[in-house]
Order: sequence, then C-alpha cells, then structure tokens
Amino acid sequence: MNKDKIVLPGEQVSTSEELLPGDGTFEEDGIIRASRVGTYYIDEKHKRAIVKPLTSIPVELKRGDIVLALVESVRSNMVIADVIHSIGKNRSISGDTNGTLRVSEISNSYVKDPSTEYAPGDIIRAKVTQVKPSVQLATKDRDLGVIKAMCTKCRHSLVRKDNLLICENCKNKEKRKTADDYGNYDLHKL
Ligand SMILES: [Zn+2]
Repeated sequence: MNKDKIVLPGEQVSTSEELLPGDGTFEEDGIIRASRVGTYYIDEKHKRAIVKPLTSIPVELKRGDIVLALVESVRSNMVIADVIHSIGKNRSISGDTNGTLRVSEISNSYVKDPSTEYAPGDIIRAKVTQVKPSVQLATKDRDLGVIKAMCTKCRHSLVRKDNLLICENCKNKEKRKTADDYGNYDLHKL
C-alpha cells in the first residue's frame, strides 16, 4: 500500500511479514489493519506501520454534520455506531461519539429489521440529527449508508454488484443500505 494514504478503521495497511504493528494499527491473522481514521506511513527505522490521526485539535459534533461511523452492534430496533470522523473537518472528535440510528431513520424504504441493512464492522456515512442528550444519526439520503463493508463470513471486502454486495473471496452475497458511492468514495474528501 502507498505511503501517506488516508485509511479507514479495519482497512489492511500491511502484513506482519513486512512490518510490525505500530501506533494506530493492530494485527490480526498476519494482517496489519488501521485502528483509526488517519494517514498511513511506514516508520522505516523501526519497520513499523503507523496510522497518524488526521489532526490533533478536536471538534465537537453539531446537528446537520455528515460523519463516518463504525457500526458496533445491530439490535432489533436500532443500530449503535461510533462516530469516527466528521466529514470536511479533518479533526478528531471530542465529547460523545456513541451514536444511535433508529430503524425508522435507516432508509426511505420500510425497514423491519436493522440486521437486513447493516452489520457490525460496516463503515457508514450518516447525518447527525441530534447531539444532546444523545447522538442520533440518520442514513435515509442516497449519499448516506454503508461506504465500506466486510464479508461477515471471511472479512474480505465486499464489492457491489447491482443491488447486492458480493465477497470476491468466498462468493458470499450480502445486502446493505449502501451509499450511492459505495466502493468508489474519495477518502481525500473526508
Ligand atoms: Zn467472504
């Protein structure tokens, strides 16, 4: 992978054969992955993979912000997602980042069960509809929804084909509420 590339949590940056996992990364089954949104670089001297935070000055979430959030759990009537980035702000986020996405706010179509649309580990682009007393998110618009998802069986990236996401490794087919630029988003516009 190229140096100085912006990466998302869970994204593969290197392998344990090439480098050691450094700050902002973790190793899993021989793969080194990013643990935060940031810029990937290699500490050549110590042969470490590093993901630096985009900047150090934090920003507070506001209603109307468009954010990236990592889906942590999917319940019967809501999705819990940790807000990891505020788009266009290039800063880390201060305060409460624990967002809730109610089933009625997922899509313009009727959704009965959130687990048909999102899975833990998905990275979604969402709109902040409330900040206090709790962070509430919505993904109804076309440009909102999953921008990156991993196969729930083998953790390889899923590729969009028509209305489904397909794992090129194990051929598993999955469904998501995808953003219209799924798989083709521009990380430099984070
Ligand atoms: Zn798979």
